[in-house]
Amino acid sequence: MASDSFRVRFAPSPTGNPHVGNFRTALYNYLLARHNGGQFLLRIEDTDKERSKKEYETAILDSLRWMGMEWDEEPVYQSQRIERHKEEALRLLDAGLAYRCRCTPERLDALRQEQQDAGKTAMYDGCCRDAGHADDGTPYCVRLKTPQDGCTKINDPIRGDVEISNREIDDIILVRSDGTPIYNFAVVVDDHDMKITHVIRGDDHLNNTIKQVQIYQSLGYDLPIFAHLPQILGQDKARLSKRHGATGVMEYREQGYLPEAIMNYLARLGWGHGDQELFSKQELVELFSLDACNKSAAVFDPQKLEWINGEHIKLLPVEELGRRFVEFALAKGILTRDQCQDVEFVNQIASCTRERVRTLDEIYEKIAFVYQDEYVYPEKESRKAFKPEVMTAVADLSSFTADHSGETLSHEDWENAFKEIMEKRDIKMRLFAQAVRLALTGSNVSPPIFDVIGLLGNEKVAQRLNDAIEFAKTIERD
Ligand code: GLU
Repeated sequence: MASDSFRVRFAPSPTGNPHVGNFRTALYNYLLARHNGGQFLLRIEDTDKERSKKEYETAILDSLRWMGMEWDEEPVYQSQRIERHKEEALRLLDAGLAYRCRCTPERLDALRQEQQDAGKTAMYDGCCRDAGHADDGTPYCVRLKTPQDGCTKINDPIRGDVEISNREIDDIILVRSDGTPIYNFAVVVDDHDMKITHVIRGDDHLNNTIKQVQIYQSLGYDLPIFAHLPQILGQDKARLSKRHGATGVMEYREQGYLPEAIMNYLARLGWGHGDQELFSKQELVELFSLDACNKSAAVFDPQKLEWINGEHIKLLPVEELGRRFVEFALAKGILTRDQCQDVEFVNQIASCTRERVRTLDEIYEKIAFVYQDEYVYPEKESRKAFKPEVMTAVADLSSFTADHSGETLSHEDWENAFKEIMEKRDIKMRLFAQAVRLALTGSNVSPPIFDVIGLLGNEKVAQRLNDAIEFAKTIERD
């Protein structure tokens, strides 16, 4: 049952390509809602016409969907609510809780300059506060009559109490002289109309929250709970940005990251449950609480994210990993639909790589040899591996393969064949496997040799062994 006592929202501004760290706020809001059986709502804060772009909005929605942070109700677009914002501004004017300010930009600039020169904080001097200006066609902006006594308090479940004297709070502009509402005002009206109970945002918004509390109180709205998350820093301790290689969520997808790994990593970036590092989405929903959020900044560590991704790859059942890999490989165009048809083959890929990779991309790297029919043997390695005495054993293996063409042999069959040949030719596994590996994959690193054989199938194995035998004859030796 959805509870109305937990209505939380993610309110991104589509003014830039969001990087992975930006979604931590979304996640904490999401987890808080789901943990409490509440609603997770989405509001697109697109009032900045110049900077808001459809492509950024798409990136935000796609990222949320891909990460599995499904939202409730239709997304709200702030830009479509301007009339409602103005209506509430008028209500404040009528009640004498806000006023029309006719100060020109020139006057305000001069005032600011004067205050700065005197070493004071720049603040409106209240020139129009009690002037009682009517709406007679003279341009004006709407300002809040901020109380001058007392103080404003926020009980933040993460930071603790924050208190500021009202004397330090400006008479905030609510509506500009061109009739457009100011961000902090629009946010309050929207959060109230959306019946938001908890506002979780980055602590760079703390100053906004203080102004918003004033606005809430003047409008006579009940305050939601405000919680501020500490910043995410790059490894150089500067605020996380693209400069640190923090790319968008969808770019991580293209690099072969799993959504559950990104979710797990972001959850741990500022929240914890003992020493536990790996969490499923279900566990996060069960365990998340604002009380367990950290007060201090978190450092984004791409290597740890990579490690967590590798662990989540291992946790996926083979068939599921196979499906994810196919989806990934098709999207990237590294495999064709035809190449992915054989589910058993795909599962074989997943099961022989899952313990050794950190991303889906690395799975492809490990098995790319299957799809490459021609390669140049590296000179030094082939001189070392393709020694004449070893190649006689390789030839035996090629005959064995030809004798069994069309059959599917088990690991054990291959192992026995290897043993027999090694005994007969009196060579060690290490040398034999090295030559076979190089012959079959063109490289001396690959998945275990019997997996390589299984992935290629008898026909390709025979073909590649013969190619290597022919090639070995061309190696000049002293
Ligand atoms: N739109 C703001 C941002 O993207 C968030 C506002 C909020 O959480 O209230 O930073």
